Amino acid sequence: MLQSKHAFFIWLAAQNRLLTQDRLSTMNIIQSNCCFLCGNEEESLEHLFFKCGFSKRCMLLLGQWMQITIPEQGVIHWWIHLRVRSLMVKHVMATGIANLMNQIWYYRNCSRVDQLVPRPGLVFQNVRTQLCNRIRCKSEIKMSSEAKQWIDSLIARQ
Ligand SMILES: [Zn+2]
Repeated sequence: MLQSKHAFFIWLAAQNRLLTQDRLSTMNIIQSNCCFLCGNEEESLEHLFFKCGFSKRCMLLLGQWMQITIPEQGVIHWWIHLRVRSLMVKHVMATGIANLMNQIWYYRNCSRVDQLVPRPGLVFQNVRTQLCNRIRCKSEIKMSSEAKQWIDSLIARQ
């Protein structure tokens, strides 16, 4: 279910290969390394996706929708040890988080150019729409009745 562009993005993020402000600053490419989304703190990989007020708000909305608590750090470790009966449900959760990280990076790049930061609600809506569409495209996949019930309730939840 995870799209290859999102998988590649997460791979880059996991390798710390994204050119965040702290990395550019270390390379002496830029002078200021302030986060574009909150304007308050240094932009690092961890700050951008999990510690920034903007991203925390987006993650909170996603977590509320999926009825999970997404931690501010150690997301991969948390996800590996997350006790969910269905692998399909776990996969949908990972796809949602990966999609949101991709959106945060996209809007971070937009705000770098035009200094406009969207509402977290809008970013979350984008993720929700994309994930629901993705699930509908994959509706023929065989899954347990428990997973189907969870996914149906996720789509129905507004
Ligand atoms: Zn920030």
